[in-house]
Order: sequence, then C-alpha cells, then structure tokens
Amino acid sequence: MLRFAPSPTGDMHIGNLRVAILNYLVAKQRNEPFMVRIEDTDKERNIEGKDTEIMQILEKFSIVHDSVHHQSEHLHMHQTLAVRLLEEGKAFVCTCTPEQLEADREEAKAKRIAYRYSGRCFTVDKAEYAKLKESGEPFVIRIRRPEHDIINHDLIKGDIITAPNEVDSFVILRADGTPTYNFACACDDMLSGVDFIIRGEDHLSNTPKQIHIKEMLGYTEETTYAHLPIILNEHGKKMSKRDKASSVKWLFEQGFIPDAIMNYLLLLGNAKAPKEIFTLPEAIEWFKLENISRSAAKFDIDKLRFLNREHLKMMDDKKLSALFGFADADIGKLAKVYLEEASTINELEARIRPIFSPKNFDNEWGEQMRVMEKLIAQAPMIDTFDEFKSYIMKESGLKGKNFFKPLRLLLTGAEHGPELSDIYPYIKSYLLEVAS
Ligand code: GLU
Repeated sequence: MLRFAPSPTGDMHIGNLRVAILNYLVAKQRNEPFMVRIEDTDKERNIEGKDTEIMQILEKFSIVHDSVHHQSEHLHMHQTLAVRLLEEGKAFVCTCTPEQLEADREEAKAKRIAYRYSGRCFTVDKAEYAKLKESGEPFVIRIRRPEHDIINHDLIKGDIITAPNEVDSFVILRADGTPTYNFACACDDMLSGVDFIIRGEDHLSNTPKQIHIKEMLGYTEETTYAHLPIILNEHGKKMSKRDKASSVKWLFEQGFIPDAIMNYLLLLGNAKAPKEIFTLPEAIEWFKLENISRSAAKFDIDKLRFLNREHLKMMDDKKLSALFGFADADIGKLAKVYLEEASTINELEARIRPIFSPKNFDNEWGEQMRVMEKLIAQAPMIDTFDEFKSYIMKESGLKGKNFFKPLRLLLTGAEHGPELSDIYPYIKSYLLEVAS
C-alpha cells in the first residue's frame, strides 16, 4: 500500500505534488492501492479548506485514490498505542519541565555536543501515569531509545544507519494528549499496511524514528523508503513559498496544464528517463524510482514552458477550444498555430481573445481597416486566403505595408503574429458572421 500524506497547512508546493505523483505511479506499477491521508493533527497550522483544495488538485492530475481519511480521526488510536508502549515498558512518562529541558539544551550547546534527552525520567514507574492523569499535572510520553542501530535502505539515498543515541528518547504523546508527527505518522502507516513510502528528503531524519516506533509496536513488515532530493530555485536555493513557481495554484494561474507539470516533475533529477515528453500512463510503463538522482534538481521554468507547449500541441482540438470557452474545434486548431509563439494557456488567450472581439480602429491604420471591413461585408464566399487576399487587395487598391498592416490588425487585433494564411482557415466563418 502506498500513500500521499499532505498537511493542509498551505498552498500545495510542487515538491508535494511530485511526491503525490510518484506515490501514485509506483502504486500503479505495483498494482497496489493508493491512499490519501490528510495529516491534520497540527490544529494551529491547519488552514480551513486546504484539504478540499488538495483533493481537487489531485483530481486535475488524474491521481485517483482508493481511500482517503483525516489523521485527526485516529487520535484515540494514537493515544491507545502510546499507552500500550508505556505499559510494555517501551515508553515512559516524562515530567521534565520546559525549564529543565531548556537548561539541558543550553548545557549541550556550551559543551558543543548534540542535545540528547537527559534520561532524568527513565526510571519513572509506569504507575505514575494513572496518578498524573488524575492530578492533572503536565507530563508527556517518550519512547525509549532503541538498543541497536536503525537502518534505512533508502532507494534513492542509499543505506542510512542511525545510532541509538541519535534516535534518542523522543516525545510521542504531548502534554495535551495529542501525538507528535512521527508517532501519528508511524502508527497510521503501520495500521494501514503502508510498506512503501516516497517523500521529500526533509523527512530523512524522521525515518529512523518512525522505523523505531513501528518496531516497538511489533510491526515486522519491512518498509521501503525513497527520499526525494529537494527542488532548488534558479539561484540554487531550496525552493520555498517565496518562489512563486513553487505553488501549484500559481502555475495553474499562469496557464500551465496538468499534463505538462506532471511530465516536468517526473523528469526532475531523472537524466535516465528514456523519453522527454510523455503522459502519466506512459511513465507508469517505464519509470524507475531508483534512477532519480541523489542530488537536488534545479527548477527550470523554460523547460516547463517547452513541455507545456508540447502537451498543448498533443491536446485534442475540441478540448483545447474548451479551455478558451469555445465549443468549435477550429479554435483549438487556431490555438495550435499560435503555439509557435506562445506556450501557456494565458499567452494563447491573450492572442486569441482579440481575434474574436470588436476591433479598435482608433490607430494610424483605422481608415484602411474600415475600407477592408466594408469589403469583407460585401465579399462573396471566399475560401482560401489567397483568394481573400487578392480580392481585398484589388478592391481596396492598397499594397505592401499599407495593405498587410491594416489587414492583420483587422483580422487579429494585433500588429504581429503567425502567417495570416495559417490563421485564416480558422477565423473565416467568424469574419463572415461579423460582416453580415
Ligand atoms: N505530512 C507530512 C508532509 O506533508 C507527511 C510526510 C510523510 O509523507 O510521511 O510533509
């Protein structure tokens, strides 16, 4: 079982989307279910409605889940499992005060050593739990550190061995009774039988903790982990919220389409991909997670623009027309002519909309445009651009620049653009309709 476990705390980042796509893709390759788990246990950071937004984005990318649930629904289960570890002596109650912990941290800092839990509460009897609960005194539950090294045979990062000391005795249940991220995540993965986890390398240090939790809970299935390198911005820094292109919503707003974004994210760090332009069903056939480079990949918007154009070219004409609010397949064909100079929906829109809008005659060519407009109104049915051009030229007596500049403005509403002969077939009926 594979899963995508987003936190509903902000706009979806392309790194998250990449994780979603890859988990889905590997689930399909392995013929296993794909689950979405909304990790909403951090009440302070949750943003209302972001869960729905995440699901809508997945739908746009045709990432279909077999099940979906919210992690907060499992609170009781997390508490039960924490108490079970306590009863089995694998976890302990800790009453260290924030001041004591802070002093321990300061001490470690002064000694220039990594902070580890002091062990002050190691020997607190588990019977204390009931008493503390009764008295209402604050306490947390910590899991005991492991007794052996924890090994993660990471598919991308290679073998990573973590010493017991580094895993440490960490908090699994906070004073308010809520589970920490690592505990909730490990319990849920275990309970839903997740045995393959693909996520960002920012979680690499959590992995030994989660493996340890699952071991303590008696889970014996081995989980395969694959941690994806971060995505860098054009300055070589981690792509953060401040980089607009990191937001999937922003990319949509700019007119990038899901097929292209998906294609781009599957190419990131994947120099061994056998193809450059492909769809998700195609990638399911040949994609190899192990081929993803260990080092960070740089986000290249020009490459995304290129892929966007290629995917728009491949799009069905009618479907492309619909993106501009037209039903006629001709508009899709017209858009493809404009792909010579545009690569996003927005850029196409900016060129196509004026063609089908009232023209502005208030310019140096206005007079000639009026003459031509009248001629089109009187024109017999003209089929080819050559016939059309000859007719207008002959009747207006205009030539060269005096002919082509006003004609282009009248037909397209713009001074520059693709060959008029390439555009004409798809705007012919509109010209006649307006003229009549
Ligand atoms: N909620 C975590 C995140 O969005 C999930 C990490 C994981 O996949 O385990 O980063």
